[in-house]
Amino acid sequence: MIYLDNAATTFPKPESVYKAHDYALRNYGANPGRGGHSYSREAAKAIFIVREKLAEFLGANSSSQIIFSSSATEAMSTILFGSLRKGDHVVTTQLEHNAVWRPLNYLKENKGVEVSYCNHIDASYIDLNDLKNKLKQNTKLVIINHVSNVFGVEQDIEAINKVVKENSNAKLVVDGAQSAGTHKVNVNSLDIDAFIFAGHKSLYGPVGTGGFYLKKDWILEPLKIGGTGSNSENMGVPKSGPERYESGTANTPGIWALGAGIDFINEKGIENIFQHKIQLSHLLIEGLRDLEAKTYYNKNSTVTSFNIENLDSTEVAFILDDLHNIIVRAGLHCSPIAHKNFNTAKQGTIRVSPGYFNTKEEIEILLEAVKELKRG
Ligand code: PMP
Repeated sequence: MIYLDNAATTFPKPESVYKAHDYALRNYGANPGRGGHSYSREAAKAIFIVREKLAEFLGANSSSQIIFSSSATEAMSTILFGSLRKGDHVVTTQLEHNAVWRPLNYLKENKGVEVSYCNHIDASYIDLNDLKNKLKQNTKLVIINHVSNVFGVEQDIEAINKVVKENSNAKLVVDGAQSAGTHKVNVNSLDIDAFIFAGHKSLYGPVGTGGFYLKKDWILEPLKIGGTGSNSENMGVPKSGPERYESGTANTPGIWALGAGIDFINEKGIENIFQHKIQLSHLLIEGLRDLEAKTYYNKNSTVTSFNIENLDSTEVAFILDDLHNIIVRAGLHCSPIAHKNFNTAKQGTIRVSPGYFNTKEEIEILLEAVKELKRG
């Protein structure tokens, strides 16, 4: 099987991730931070170690700024529902995932939140002039997709944040679901207010892991409220820190294995991982061009979309899976609006997202399969 759907979730995971998951399930089996006994403390310590690792990996000042969740979606919802109120205005982009579009649409329709959508240059980069013009006195958040899960475009966070901070009081929220683990990010030097990551994608953790970095002093209303293992006699929600947002039993094995994923990236080098993906994408793009397929990608895309003539993208993906055992994703990739700019809203696209474990040979096999498919 050739798996090229790493933008949905990376597969396989590094061996060390499987081992860490198994180890934690067997050895950190008590409920983390609950009850104060030694096994509970051990499990809590394991989570703390990974929190520290992530803080260092993302360039945060303190691990108390790293909050775990079950997915990037939960992380994004925590920020949106935890900060937006009636009368607030949000600026976002047309490349967002439904993890942003749907909650914003809900808040717009049900809670009186106003939403503006930035224009894009060549359907890719955010038009900074348009962004500037869209900022208002009541703009509370600017939410941007760092790397597109459909077309691979990487936004310039530094330039965007400069416009945001110089022209408004808005906070910058970055959806890093596709960038964390592939693109080097330093939340501190980029002055990002919140950065969302998907642990199960390019960070090589298991499904069920994700989270966000939250700038110190930004306090959100919690999305869920319940037991935290501390101050149980007190009915109040913890006032700050991860505990405020992480009520309920944590996913210790998932988080511990995510730590192994980060170790793996540090060991291989994030730049090498990035270059490997870029090389495979270039090979794919060149090959697809020779086959006269329609390609949608950007400079240094780690994710590439394409179409073959007017063939339905889901049909193509089905044939690749069924006849060639090649796994790619087809359709709208949970980002319906992104497709409007490229006129692919009806046909969708076939998305190829290589990971660290893919090889040039696998891309060549895919190209051969596409060639065959074109011949009919
Ligand atoms: N944002 C982007 C840009 C994504 O690509 C995805 C996943 N495809 C998400 C958010 C949602 O991630 P999760 O599946 O972890 O909720």
